[in-house]
Amino acid sequence: MKISLIIPCFNEQEALPLFYDEVTRVLDTMQCAYEILFVNDGSRDETLTILKGFAEKNEHVTYLSFSRNFGKEAAMYAGFCNASGDYVAVMDADMQDPPALLPEMVKMLETGDYDSVATRRVNREGEPPIRSWFARKFYKLINRISDADIVDGARDFRLMKWEMVDAIVAMSEYNRFSKGIFGWIGFKTYWLPYQNVERVAGETKWNFWKLLKYAFDGIINFSEVPLSIASWSGIGMAFVAAIMLVVIIIRRLCFGDPVAGWASTMCVIVFIGAIQLFCIGIMGQYLAKTYNETKKRPHYIISESNKEVKKIG
Ligand code: UDP
Ligand code: MG
Repeated sequence: MKISLIIPCFNEQEALPLFYDEVTRVLDTMQCAYEILFVNDGSRDETLTILKGFAEKNEHVTYLSFSRNFGKEAAMYAGFCNASGDYVAVMDADMQDPPALLPEMVKMLETGDYDSVATRRVNREGEPPIRSWFARKFYKLINRISDADIVDGARDFRLMKWEMVDAIVAMSEYNRFSKGIFGWIGFKTYWLPYQNVERVAGETKWNFWKLLKYAFDGIINFSEVPLSIASWSGIGMAFVAAIMLVVIIIRRLCFGDPVAGWASTMCVIVFIGAIQLFCIGIMGQYLAKTYNETKKRPHYIISESNKEVKKIG
């Protein structure tokens, strides 16, 4: 049995040495074959030099270095395309995905009852409250409007059998949202809860706006419900218009027809205009995604590696 660990790294020079020591310590206690696939996602600091150092002293270390920053999703995809283990896991380099959980996860898979063991944070301590609030609302919403079932607090850290990895690689869409992909492909998953850990060193690569955009992308990738907003608001407005027509006719018959109501007319015009623009915007979002998919551009480009790997994928 061999384990592959995929580690996306973007400017992680501070955290990497700590992560490496901890993960090799845990893997040594497990006494199984392993490979660690570090994916350098276009870092601008000393990350690549550090990775080369690891590869020199440990033959189980492979590094893939991207030609530029392609994002964590692309880094994970490159890892999945090049992993050779029977069990494969994705882990952050900042120790927010504790390597110490690995033995327990392997034990769970060995029972044969599950195809993957996924981790779930049971608290969000150390995170700004506004971020947690939005995250909770997002999970509620996306589970209601899409068929990708996504667990609140789910992390990308999970150990999977290779069959599941093949399914993920087969989902070769350009706009990737892994939390949705994991849910969409199915398979039996065991959820392992754990207490949130703060990043050991360095800084988070996410800010509020990036996360908000990521959330919107997730919804658009896994749900067609926003598209129907246009139809439903159209029907709603037609209904309101019918009622207004009746009111106006009755007013005309009972009270005559004084010219008044400029303010309310303006309100209606602006309101309808806003809804139309909003709906066109939603359609534009889907169109843009479709446009991106049809170009069939590669997810990642590897400029440097210490092993024979799929360079463009
Ligand atoms: N990461 C990456 N490419 C990026 C952004 C992040 O490979 O463009 C990696 C990063 O190095 C880390 C993991 O993704 O190993 C999670 O990033 P981070 O810890 O910044 O996210 P957070 O834990 O704050 O959600
Ligand atoms: Mg982190």
